[in-house]
Amino acid sequence: MPDQERRWDIKEATFVKSSAQPSESPNPDRPEYAFIGRSNVGKSSLLNMLVGRTSLAKTSSTPGKTQLINHFDVDGTWYLVDLPGFGYAKVSKKDRAKWMEVTKRYLDTRPNLMCVMMLVDSRIPAQNVDLEFMAWMGSVGLPFVLVFTKVDKLNKAERGTFLPAYEEVMLKQWHKMPPVFVTSSNSSEGREVLLRFVAQTNGLYQP
Ligand code: GDP
Repeated sequence: MPDQERRWDIKEATFVKSSAQPSESPNPDRPEYAFIGRSNVGKSSLLNMLVGRTSLAKTSSTPGKTQLINHFDVDGTWYLVDLPGFGYAKVSKKDRAKWMEVTKRYLDTRPNLMCVMMLVDSRIPAQNVDLEFMAWMGSVGLPFVLVFTKVDKLNKAERGTFLPAYEEVMLKQWHKMPPVFVTSSNSSEGREVLLRFVAQTNGLYQP
């Protein structure tokens, strides 16, 4: 396929830096997308699938351990930001609260943040911690999209029902649904449509 037609695709993604504080993040000189979700949601797998690598984001055996804001440069065009999974049971309540405070401060103050990619596991019913987090994003006016993960684990019947069930819960809080992406790191389903969304949104960036 000619290059022209695959402008949405990722050629190279490289690690830039990990920051313990929002103020340590790289210069906000290009559009940025933050990926977040509960531990074990499949975030590392999704990021690796998106960038076409096996080791961009380490599939961590100790989720929640490294509470850092991780910036990756994508083709010198945008930043992909890997935020630690929240809600990991083995992390103390105090540390979880601290991490949530840092995350929110980063999300709320980062001027080049185009959109938050909110990951949810398509096999698990809507969780309060996710709904509360989305409500917070709404309250501060942060644009976000919902990214359902692990859809390959659903059978045909479940595929037809998981989204309406999730919507039913969401629409008790929201007037309308945010954009929804259905993905699988195993089959790469959703990769192109998600990356096309990023490419399109990059076009809206105003430095
Ligand atoms: P993280 O903690 O959010 O980074 O989640 P991981 O990427 O480490 O994934 C958690 C578990 O879910 C691992 O056992 C993965 O192999 C599995 N997993 C992640 N994505 C998928 C997927 O798309 N399909 C399937 N079947 N399993 C997945």
